[in-house]
Amino acid sequence: MTRTVPCPTCRQPSPFTPANRWRPFCSERCRGMDLGAWASEDYRVAAAPPQGDDADTPAPGGAGGPDTDARTAS
Ligand SMILES: [Zn+2]
Repeated sequence: MTRTVPCPTCRQPSPFTPANRWRPFCSERCRGMDLGAWASEDYRVAAAPPQGDDADTPAPGGAGGPDTDARTAS
């Protein structure tokens, strides 16, 4: 028996089988669209600087951070 799941992108029933390499999506296109939307949104959130003041800051909340300093100070 073949189990089908609704494609998260287009809602079409797609076969949830090893033969369907894009499962749970119905096609490569739908899979790419969903991943693209998810990745771009995630990237935008992650890339948004908390204060946007220092453009030279490599990454917000990087290694260590205030927590490590506070623990070491006290
Ligand atoms: Zn689809």
